[in-house]
Amino acid sequence: MTLLRHTFDEIKPRKALTVNSAKTCQPVGAMYAALGIHRCLPHSHGSQGCCSYHRSALTRHYKEPVMAATSSFTEGASVFGGQANLLKGIETIFQVYDPDVVAVHTTCLSETIGDDIPQIVSKCNDKGFIPEGKLVIHCNTPSYVGSHVTGFANMVTGMVKYLSTSTETEATRYNVIPGWVEPSDMRELKRLMGVLGLDTILFPDTSDVLDCELDGERDFYPDGGTTIEDLRATGDSAATFALGAWASKPAGEELESKCGVPTKHLDLPIGLRATDRFIDAVRTTAGIEVPTELTKERGRLVDVMSDMHQYLHGKRVALVGDPDQLVALSEFCADLDMRPVYIVSGTPGKAFEHDVLERLEERIPEVKIANGANADMFLLHQWIKQEPVDMIIGNTYCKYICRDENIPLIRHGFPILDRVGHSLFPTVGYMGAMRLLEKILDAVMTKQDLESDEEKVELVM
Ligand code: SF4
Repeated sequence: MTLLRHTFDEIKPRKALTVNSAKTCQPVGAMYAALGIHRCLPHSHGSQGCCSYHRSALTRHYKEPVMAATSSFTEGASVFGGQANLLKGIETIFQVYDPDVVAVHTTCLSETIGDDIPQIVSKCNDKGFIPEGKLVIHCNTPSYVGSHVTGFANMVTGMVKYLSTSTETEATRYNVIPGWVEPSDMRELKRLMGVLGLDTILFPDTSDVLDCELDGERDFYPDGGTTIEDLRATGDSAATFALGAWASKPAGEELESKCGVPTKHLDLPIGLRATDRFIDAVRTTAGIEVPTELTKERGRLVDVMSDMHQYLHGKRVALVGDPDQLVALSEFCADLDMRPVYIVSGTPGKAFEHDVLERLEERIPEVKIANGANADMFLLHQWIKQEPVDMIIGNTYCKYICRDENIPLIRHGFPILDRVGHSLFPTVGYMGAMRLLEKILDAVMTKQDLESDEEKVELVM
């Protein structure tokens, strides 16, 4: 019996119904971004249930304990507002948990009530609840609009609004806003900038926060995260590279308008061409040469692409996940000579279809693209039932469709609840593209091994 046996292939128009959404709620992203600040405790201004969900969503994906505080709304706060809860919460957090920063995000309920967070924080200051040298920042994350990606972008923009400062110091550093990527990707972006010889501020930075070593010690605040000093210094940098139009562009724009730091808006560097564009933008902006180490990495990727191309040629692939990832992934799949035919993201945004089509350069005329509230896993499954694909690249929720349709799943994106590796091995840059390519090839070739007629099983492939 199939798990999704009620999915039918006939697509009927629907406006007010989402079935198995391809996104999650805003505060999950805000909490993830806040964890990328050194010694920061995220604070969820809403009910305990919201906070528990957001923490568990992140804990299950990153396989690390995620700490966060909550305003613990009950019926009283729902009627009279959550000011008293937040005041008490901030006072207690600094007394008991001693973070350097508390990053408050709102929830559906506190947004509907209309709680004014800056006013409550200023009251905290008046009452002396925020110790000298400590900070409270905030962003609004009403979850009835946008998605987890919007929440991430809002918190990163909040970091700029509260902290970035221009002091007229000589600009010698470069900002990288990595977007919602894995801790491993953030580590890889820092490595790439290091190989290019540039002093970089990456923010937020969840490496060494959500991919920590097991050393027998238990630190409430891990070593990683962008420091407050560095967040302030982003206003003095020579340029910003904002990776991903959905997750990073708003913060890049805010930084440019607040501190005058010129910003290059780029795709996430996933795949050959997007990485080329990233490296080239850094090269031209900083006026540097690309070192041989990177040229060789690129060359190895191109070598594997051309060696193994025959296994991927014409393979139909469905992509589901977050828009910044999908824009770059669709281009990479087409560059591998695959056919990205279905592309689905639950995150709204008018530019999505345009951006994907632009990267595909009319190479995939049959592509179907959907995003927003009605772009869900049910629609994706219906498309696959109408005309099958050879694989899906997406998060863990795709496994039900893959099981029903007997197609491989290459896990990528958020959340991945049933495997490890995503937070440890990057998929950005040339090395990341090689890992992605290896995973795609492994899935395709394993299926061929298992399903070929006996006389056609090849030892050497
Ligand atoms: S959608 Fe709204 S109510 Fe539900 S968990 Fe997210 S913030 Fe809370």
